[in-house]
Amino acid sequence: MRTWTPPEIPELPGTGTAPKLFNTATGRLEHPAIPEGRALLYVCGITPYDATHLGHAFTYLAFDIMQRAWRDAGIETVYAQNITDIDDPLLERAHDTGVDWRDLADGQIGLFRSDMFRLGMIPPDHYVAVTERIDEIAAAVRDLLDRGFAYRVPTEGAAGEDVYFDVQGASRDSQWRLGDVAPYDRATMLEFSAERGGDPDRSGKRDPLDPLLWRAAREGEPSWESPVGVGRPGWHVECSVIATEALGGAFTVQGGGTDLVFPHHEFTAAHATALSGTPLAHAYSHAGLVGYHGHKMSKSRGNLVFVSKLLNGTHPGQTGGPADPSAIRLGLLAHHYRSEWEWQDADLETAARRLEAWRTGLERSEAARARDLAAPDDAPREERASALGVIQQLRAALANDLDTPVMLAILDAAFDRGIDQPRLVADAAHALLGVRL
Ligand code: ZN
Repeated sequence: MRTWTPPEIPELPGTGTAPKLFNTATGRLEHPAIPEGRALLYVCGITPYDATHLGHAFTYLAFDIMQRAWRDAGIETVYAQNITDIDDPLLERAHDTGVDWRDLADGQIGLFRSDMFRLGMIPPDHYVAVTERIDEIAAAVRDLLDRGFAYRVPTEGAAGEDVYFDVQGASRDSQWRLGDVAPYDRATMLEFSAERGGDPDRSGKRDPLDPLLWRAAREGEPSWESPVGVGRPGWHVECSVIATEALGGAFTVQGGGTDLVFPHHEFTAAHATALSGTPLAHAYSHAGLVGYHGHKMSKSRGNLVFVSKLLNGTHPGQTGGPADPSAIRLGLLAHHYRSEWEWQDADLETAARRLEAWRTGLERSEAARARDLAAPDDAPREERASALGVIQQLRAALANDLDTPVMLAILDAAFDRGIDQPRLVADAAHALLGVRL
């Protein structure tokens, strides 16, 4: 799939250090492996049936900042993201609105691309839609059947049989164990399975947690011919196949929102490991979910703040005209990526004020620097912050699990006090946070 134009990222003097990152699978801060000096990142993409909301933006921003940290440390990055462009919610929305599912998906992918570009997000190097890899995914399901890690379940009203992954069998006979990624007990797993796309109550399965690998064609649903029958892929195996094809096995970080920890990331890892014998990734990173009006932002509840509306100045109740993309980034970056928090409408104004204060501080420091250069012998000068010292502090906070709230506080103080080489600090805000002054 086509992506979007990459943002400009200024070069800074010196280099940062590779960030220490929280690994959901171990519960510890770690330096995940960077094979051959390249940080390999996979982040689960959208199901394109509705516009990008601030919860999505918060997740993708976390992984944008992660890549900026690696790049500043002189580490090359390879970034892959999928698009789940065939899935139940997409088909339901298409059916409900009378729009062809393909047209709905294409329109929403276009809008996502535009939102990501306007927010200055680093685009993926591999941007792969599920419908572009149906043959490869079906071959992986066939392979899982052949290896004894999958089984067929009789399916009423379908052209064939659904195929499920055998969680207990794979836990026993492959290198993966249930719970390798998700730190939850079985009761929690069952609850999340029911809430997040699983079907624990489906009869005929060996274990209620067993996830769907291949859905046999139903009347009126899009389907593809394949060696495992006519149908379409299940959710987790898509990401297993797309991620390992793009990045190989044992890549650096598998990322997404915390609602993907289970079942999605647990079983994406399970399928990949059962197929290859190697773990999917070294670390699993998850961004916190964003609430609005008292609940997690979700399509089903309808409490969404759309990025495109903020950028166009049309979010209900929004004052002050179209939002500056840098202000949206600052509003999100004021929260650590792992925190769960609630967006308030006033957050945008607060962020815009902070942006304005930084821009004013930059101008003031530049004017002072011009005065110094014009009259170098005029003493005394006020005590200004050293730009190189500020950059060092920013890098230290970034390397500590991407601590953006601390970085914002460092910049607040520096612009307030005045900076000896102000343009360097503006470049640092741009390069490390994607905030343009
Ligand atoms: Zn995924």
